[in-house]
Amino acid sequence: MANVGWDEVNDAALLNPFENSMQDLVNTAQSDRDYSLFSSFSASTASWRVVKPIYNSDVCIHCQNCWVYCPDSAILSEEKKMQGIDYDHCKGCGICADVCPTNPKSLIMYEEATVEDSALASWPEKKKKEKKA
Ligand code: SF4
Ligand code: SF4
Repeated sequence: MANVGWDEVNDAALLNPFENSMQDLVNTAQSDRDYSLFSSFSASTASWRVVKPIYNSDVCIHCQNCWVYCPDSAILSEEKKMQGIDYDHCKGCGICADVCPTNPKSLIMYEEATVEDSALASWPEKKKKEKKA
C-alpha cells in the first residue's frame, strides 16, 4: 500500500502492522518482528507528552508493577528486569510512578525538558515513616 495521508485512506482500509504476514507471532520475539511503518511500534506516538517518568535503577526492586500497569506498554523489561522507558511511546500518564512501591520511588514524573542526569543527581531521600499518635 502506498503511503497516503490519514484523510486519503479508504473507509475500512486495513493498516497492516507487519510488512509480511506473520505466521507465528506469539513465538516471535518483538525485536524479530517485521513491523511496518503503519504500526505504533515503528512510529513515535509520544510527541504531545508534557511530563515524563525518569527511572532510577539504584532504587528499583524489579517488582514489575510499572510494566504490568503501563497502558502503553512503554516500560522496557527483559527477563523480569526493568530496563527503562520507551520514550517513543510513553504518554506521560504517571501511572508507573503511582504504582512504584519503593521508598523513594524508582520512577518519578518530571517536566519533559528535564535532563535525566540532573534528576538522578537530586533524587529524593528515603522518607521516614510517621509514628502513629
Ligand atoms: S508515564 Fe504512563 S505511558 Fe509512560 S511509562 Fe509510565 S505508565 Fe507508561
Ligand atoms: S514499579 Fe518501581 S520498583 Fe517496580 S519494577 Fe517498576 S521501577 Fe522498579
